[in-house]
Amino acid sequence: MEASKNKLFSGNRQTFAVAPRVWGLKTIFVNLYFIAEPDGSWILVDAGVPGCTSKIKSAAAEIFGEDARPKAILLTHGHFDHIGAVKDLAEEWDVPVYAHPLELPYLTGQSSYPPPDSSVGGGGMAYMAFAYPKKPINIRNYVELLPPDGSVPGLTGWHWIHTPGHTPGHVSLFREEDRVLVVGDAFTTRDAESAIAVMTEKREVHGPPAYFTPDWAASHRSVDALASLDPEVAASGHGMPMRGDELRRGLENLVKNFWVIAVPTKGRYVHEPAVADERGVISVPPPVGNSVPKVMAIAGALALAGFAFSALNRRVKSNSQIRSDRPLPHNRVASGLPPTVDPDHDDPTAHTNNYP
Ligand SMILES: [Zn+2]
Ligand SMILES: [Zn+2]
Repeated sequence: MEASKNKLFSGNRQTFAVAPRVWGLKTIFVNLYFIAEPDGSWILVDAGVPGCTSKIKSAAAEIFGEDARPKAILLTHGHFDHIGAVKDLAEEWDVPVYAHPLELPYLTGQSSYPPPDSSVGGGGMAYMAFAYPKKPINIRNYVELLPPDGSVPGLTGWHWIHTPGHTPGHVSLFREEDRVLVVGDAFTTRDAESAIAVMTEKREVHGPPAYFTPDWAASHRSVDALASLDPEVAASGHGMPMRGDELRRGLENLVKNFWVIAVPTKGRYVHEPAVADERGVISVPPPVGNSVPKVMAIAGALALAGFAFSALNRRVKSNSQIRSDRPLPHNRVASGLPPTVDPDHDDPTAHTNNYP
């Protein structure tokens, strides 16, 4: 543990250095982060795409030593590409999973996210949106609320910032001392809508992934708030870290021209956001015509067929959105009382909204 204290590069070719005591790991197309304290204790931020549990564990072993175990897992948000290994790891490590209260419905089987907008963007990610898991996971045995004072459990010198828009309870993390920002998907450092940019890892400040962003006005305010922190380093869920003037200029440009750069010209949520509260999605605007030709969608699907989503999708009811009328377990989570629903089974009280 001692040896890894100030180590900037882990030596694992899959991980990359972000800043002192901050490392990233890319799982197919999304990053997660390891953040350590000077004493060698650490937390995991996000948990990658489905099927990446052993990859995360081997990266953790590489950085922190065999059988290293974090103090906690923190989720910037609950999209499927950030929670792939969360259940396995929380169980195995027996650690709490921290999230914002507004993200809880999507982590406790209470509500699905608003339907992804496959009519936006022009890249492979949008083409594949129809295939992404839509059903919320249920990790209520492990999930805990982030402290309201902005502190980050397990870390000193960091605080969390509520950055809604991409999801209702999205958070970013900031270390004041050297102005390191772990962004989540509040903004990205590559063009998620461009398949070429995804492959080449060209660094450029972009808005959040469009196909999954249901509230653009909130997203703009969040980017503005993050830019005003004047980060020196920004490590996003998608793209490689950016720093210094390049980051500053990119962020300034994004804030100023957000509705041109980040917001799609047309799409389901462009003029009207999805509405959600602490119990989940309340309403979504009607769908718009899908601008992606079917043949392109199929080509995109084939091109990205390597993704191991099939096992997950087998459990997904097609096109269904679930939200329970039962109160959310906020108090139960906060008070540590046992859950009333087996997290390994479907919530019997949840019902289907059938958003188109
Ligand atoms: Zn996301
Ligand atoms: Zn993401």
